[in-house]
Amino acid sequence: MSRYWSALVRDLKPYVPGEQPRIADLVKLNTNENPYGPSPRAMAAIAAEASETLRLYPDPEATALREALARYHGVEPGQVFVGNGSDEVLAHAFAALLKHDRPLLFPDITYSFYPVYCRLFGIAFETLPLDEAFAVRRSDYERPAGAIILPNPNAPTGVALPRSEIEALLKAQPDVPVVIDEAYVDFGAESAIPLVAAHPNLLVVRTMSKSRALAGLRVGYAIGGAELIEALVRVKDSFNSYPLGRTAQAGAIASIEDEAYFQDRRSAVIASRGRMERELARLGFEVLPSAANFVFARHPDHQGAALAQALRERAVLVRHFAAPRISDHLRITVGTDQQIDRLIGALSEII
Ligand code: PMP
Repeated sequence: MSRYWSALVRDLKPYVPGEQPRIADLVKLNTNENPYGPSPRAMAAIAAEASETLRLYPDPEATALREALARYHGVEPGQVFVGNGSDEVLAHAFAALLKHDRPLLFPDITYSFYPVYCRLFGIAFETLPLDEAFAVRRSDYERPAGAIILPNPNAPTGVALPRSEIEALLKAQPDVPVVIDEAYVDFGAESAIPLVAAHPNLLVVRTMSKSRALAGLRVGYAIGGAELIEALVRVKDSFNSYPLGRTAQAGAIASIEDEAYFQDRRSAVIASRGRMERELARLGFEVLPSAANFVFARHPDHQGAALAQALRERAVLVRHFAAPRISDHLRITVGTDQQIDRLIGALSEII
């Protein structure tokens, strides 16, 4: 606390990202990074862009990238917004679309950045409890609200809602903006993007950090009706005109155009998740059904914090949340086969 701070800053409770420690031979399963590298074509495009042209500003509208994304998703370029990671896209969505007199609704257990944005932007919100199976109860959201945001699949649970449920929610709430955060959708959930055409209140947010292994490049985007996209552009151009550098735009385009690599690595992660789930279950863990690149699991005989600490002592990093209802759970990112071996070996010792 400092007397130089504005009142706003004094009251912030910032989001705490997963650690990026320097521990030798670390098995890093705490931030849902992709265990495989990005598309070689993306890396080549980034290298090619690292040239004398870096003295020039990038395209502030990222036109070529938005066109590539529009082609990929079968929408118009005017229905695509890009930002510096989906965290920035989400921040702009909170400011542009989610602040109303009535509260914003989201689950009690969800991406912990949402309440942080609410405090930053002064947004009233209400959290609605997930059911006993840690699933979103869609009917809970069919009540007067200013706006709604749901990750699908949800984080940190990995539990997905079928598209039909999102569609039913959109039909029940045609007058409020609904944001679906699809950070992990490529690992097994149904995207809401096909619903954009019929629902002008729907914004779908995506990231290239997870399924495209580009967390370090910082590229996120949103797909939605042109009215919603215009709101995001207005906030962006009141904040930072150049959120994506030249290398980020070039790398993202090349990644989108390398469908074969994308499908290959996505399938590999999904297959490894299956193996991780089976091995954890064999050790007595209760594992939630995951549609993401992580699993959310608890052991009936062990406390979550103690397990996370014991794993850390064996250089295996997982994410633990000291929060109500989930303090005995661990969120474990799907790793390579070798990393899964190390995880299961360490857990066998501990348990
Ligand atoms: N949404 C969810 C649900 C996430 O878990 C994350 C990753 N922390 C993000 C969005 C943001 O990812 P990025 O900013 O890397 O696109």
